[in-house]
Amino acid sequence: MQTPSLPSKIDPWRLAAESGRLEGSLALAALPRLIAELNRTDGVVSVALVAGIDPRGVRFIGGALRTGVELVCQRCLGRLRLALDVTVSLGLVHGEAEAGRLPEEYEPLLVPEGAIRVADLVEDELLLALPQIPRHDDARDCEANGYRTPDRVEHDQPFATLASLLRDSRRSH
Ligand SMILES: [Zn+2]
Repeated sequence: MQTPSLPSKIDPWRLAAESGRLEGSLALAALPRLIAELNRTDGVVSVALVAGIDPRGVRFIGGALRTGVELVCQRCLGRLRLALDVTVSLGLVHGEAEAGRLPEEYEPLLVPEGAIRVADLVEDELLLALPQIPRHDDARDCEANGYRTPDRVEHDQPFATLASLLRDSRRSH
């Protein structure tokens, strides 16, 4: 199967006017702000976006981005693989005032006249989809990486042992 190629730049206004499509894949390695957050830099993101003008006259870019990323769990510092399946629903706007008038289902995409980089668009959407504090959903996955949950740590308290030793030594005098 041949992967359709993505243009490196698009004019979103023109793409919407022409009901264009953006389909293909991008290497994660081409997204520097994203890979700064990741544990691995290989992999690709598949892009399936369409542009158009909705019945209310909103110029939009919508569709889906799919990829798998590897992060570092902030609880156990182990590897955390995450599938990102991002729904994109962007309404094109020229400025803030226009953004305020967009129907709720759209996130504003501020685009002055001219071209934007497809990689920037994809990267921004993926960055928004990353968890702020990546963690395994199941704490047992963290324990498998050597993490001990706080209630278990309380079971052996080195200071409690020390305190009882001190008490014993005082008693013997
Ligand atoms: Zn973990």
